[in-house]
Amino acid sequence: MSKLTYLPPVRGIGYLRISLTDACNFKCRYCREYGQTSPSPGLSKEEINLLVKVFSEYGLQTVRFTGGEPLLRNDIVDIVASVKGYVEDVSLTTNGFFLKKFAKPLKEAGLKRLNVSLDSLNPEKFRYLTGGGDLSKVLEGLEEAKRHFGGIKINTVAIKGFTEDEIDDLLMFCADNGFHLRFIELMPVGNLPFFGKDRFLPLDWVFNYITDRYGELIPLDRTGSGASKDYLLPSLGIKVGFIKSVTEPFCEGCEKFRVTADGKLHFCLRTDREFDLKPYLRSEEKLREIIPTLLRLKAENNAFIEANGFGWFANKRTMVKIGG
Ligand code: SAM
Ligand code: SF4
Repeated sequence: MSKLTYLPPVRGIGYLRISLTDACNFKCRYCREYGQTSPSPGLSKEEINLLVKVFSEYGLQTVRFTGGEPLLRNDIVDIVASVKGYVEDVSLTTNGFFLKKFAKPLKEAGLKRLNVSLDSLNPEKFRYLTGGGDLSKVLEGLEEAKRHFGGIKINTVAIKGFTEDEIDDLLMFCADNGFHLRFIELMPVGNLPFFGKDRFLPLDWVFNYITDRYGELIPLDRTGSGASKDYLLPSLGIKVGFIKSVTEPFCEGCEKFRVTADGKLHFCLRTDREFDLKPYLRSEEKLREIIPTLLRLKAENNAFIEANGFGWFANKRTMVKIGG
């Protein structure tokens, strides 16, 4: 039952995460089902443009493209260039496989920031986790991306029995390349047989591991969407971040919205609540009319989470469908 006596308002749309496709060239075991899946075509460039244009009137400051694998979209460079007309901070999360081809044109199109997911630097373990992925292509992609982007963030999902002996290599890799390493707690999404609660590795464990071996982590101010608590690791000269989505969720005043590849506004990774935006993406007026409803639904969602806590309950859709 709700403990809240009033609904804290959501005043705007600060951050929008757009899934460009729910197809992917990898099959990460914590992210998607194996077997047959039927990917959605994704929103068109025009629909994305309209969405970002109207949301930018309600305070939108950051757009992040995700997927599935966003670099599977042939029109990705055009999409980035087109939304730059409305929002300055345009970023992208990728598995890195296609970065050799896309890093330069994405930079030229105005992409500001790049996050690359990388859970292992061991080719065999990488292949196992990604269902056949080729680590060398990701490393080539990162090498190219480094030439065009500063401050690349490496996202690593912490997995019990897997990540413990990756931490040293990942720290050294980031120190050598000037990358910012961020650990993410494994979230319970979908009904994935391989990665359940028994694979959960709390980030406090990772934090203690790092401080025991590498010395003090100095806290930095929260920036961006606030999901990551970032630290400076002076002994290696890099930033290390911790996204404790399960043990310490950061939800207060959340103005983060997600749009899935099939056009659903997904309010939070902790709930299944969605609103079908597709019918409203044909005209700016129609979309403007429903913004107050979207803000109210988001506020209700925040209140629901506040009141019900954060148990280990799974969202029905897997991350590949929602966009992470
Ligand atoms: N394909 C791109 C990639 O891998 O970066 C973008 C989409 S992926 C769904 C976005 C992020 O979600 C990745 O950093 C991935 O590691 C993360 N992710 C996927 N499943 C997750 C889970 N069950 N718990 C926590 N993070 C997850
Ligand atoms: Fe694909 Fe990214 Fe999910 Fe891995 S985490 S399966 S690369 S969408």
